[in-house]
Amino acid sequence: MDCCTYAAPAILPVLCVYIPMRVPGLRAEHQPERLWPGRPMLQQDESFSSWFARVAEMNGLLPQELMRALFPRHHLGLYDLDRAAPGALIERLAAKTGRAAPDLRNATFARWAGTVFERDDGRTKLGWLPPSGAASNSEGGFGQQVCRHCLDEDRTPHLRLSWRLSFVTACADHAVHLINRCPSCGFQLLPMRRGTKRLFVDCARCGDDLRSVRPERASRQVIELQSRMLCNASDLWSMLDGHGPILSLAWFEILERLVRLFCVGPQARPLRTHLADVAQCATHAIDRLPPIRDFRALEPSGRASLLELASWMMTDWPRRFVGACRQVGVHAGLIDKHGRRLPYALHHAIRWNLFDAETVTDDGEVVAARAHLEAAGIRPTLAALRTLVGRSLDGRGHLTAPARTAIAWGTHRHWKLQGVAPEVRAAARTAAHRAGMNLGVWVDRALRSALLDATISPKSVINGTGEQETITDRSRRHT
Ligand SMILES: [Zn+2]
Ligand SMILES: [Zn+2]
Repeated sequence: MDCCTYAAPAILPVLCVYIPMRVPGLRAEHQPERLWPGRPMLQQDESFSSWFARVAEMNGLLPQELMRALFPRHHLGLYDLDRAAPGALIERLAAKTGRAAPDLRNATFARWAGTVFERDDGRTKLGWLPPSGAASNSEGGFGQQVCRHCLDEDRTPHLRLSWRLSFVTACADHAVHLINRCPSCGFQLLPMRRGTKRLFVDCARCGDDLRSVRPERASRQVIELQSRMLCNASDLWSMLDGHGPILSLAWFEILERLVRLFCVGPQARPLRTHLADVAQCATHAIDRLPPIRDFRALEPSGRASLLELASWMMTDWPRRFVGACRQVGVHAGLIDKHGRRLPYALHHAIRWNLFDAETVTDDGEVVAARAHLEAAGIRPTLAALRTLVGRSLDGRGHLTAPARTAIAWGTHRHWKLQGVAPEVRAAARTAAHRAGMNLGVWVDRALRSALLDATISPKSVINGTGEQETITDRSRRHT
């Protein structure tokens, strides 16, 4: 794309100065690229969106104006630049700022593909990388996290890419928890939403200085755990204590499943309380945590507490995990509700330790229980057998006796007459056969006749042509 075509003078007063002059005699593709005046260096661990905002600022633009300048039909609000910066955007910015495109790409979530998430198709949620900034809901959910001390000490305040990870909750350099909301207005930090007087330092909504916050101190355990998780995120393999090396992808999926257990479901609070007693960690925060569906919507210190508990369960795998689940009655179905693929280490632990506790897996056990009940003169129904063995008999109903003797329901759809006794259905079928009719037709006529006899006012029905007629009319026509 020729840069002359994207530079709109009305909105790009600075960039227009640097529109390259064409060299006479050279073809368009050979014309030299002229760099923009504002070309900030990418800081260490800086996120792409942070750098993008600084490029815009150094060239006298708002981030959304820079986006429109590069892609006139695109609005910045549609993009989470750290997750889905278009390749063309990166290439274009690299050409205009003189920065290396691979470095810019490494400042996006692509850095963690294959370790924190498998691959990103742009539509599904990334468990540990929730939307933030322009793409997030500003009132709830996960906001851009920052360390106020880092922003204070930065010669050039910038956002770190690791602050986008929901398991990152603290700054290791300053041993404090990150903040993700403005202390004055409570709004999430949305540095890309609009221009502020001081980039990243002021709240996008009220303009308050974020460096005035006094953040909560983070414990040594939280900092160490976070360092381990960041190591796992940067390596293909992670160590699952007691089990051995597993893919980091699997390690993070197990962690996510365990954290979810603490948030949703009847087991969430008992499990938190039990672990806080047993593990003697994060006890101070457990009772303060609100009931919440999404772990990522918690404040950083709350997330840190749940991560500590999950980490404790992932030590000495699977002994601690299985012990805690059994203690509070967590069964396999609560961990794997939708039958999705599980990492092998987790699947193995559930299959051999928790699944048995939930469901009978051996036909012989059901047969023996049935014989025991019959010997005692008790009818071996499903309910009686379930009471005896104390577990579910899913898939083994054929080994039980029916609760009462009844005529079979039949298989035809007309037999599924809700609330009609089986013997009436059987008699109706015999009557229909004798009359040489299909059962449905016979039942329909019988109902119409009964309605007429009961002198119930006919209700409107719609015939095949869409006209309305009454039951009485149709009955007369049949006769
Ligand atoms: Zn810091
Ligand atoms: Zn504010």
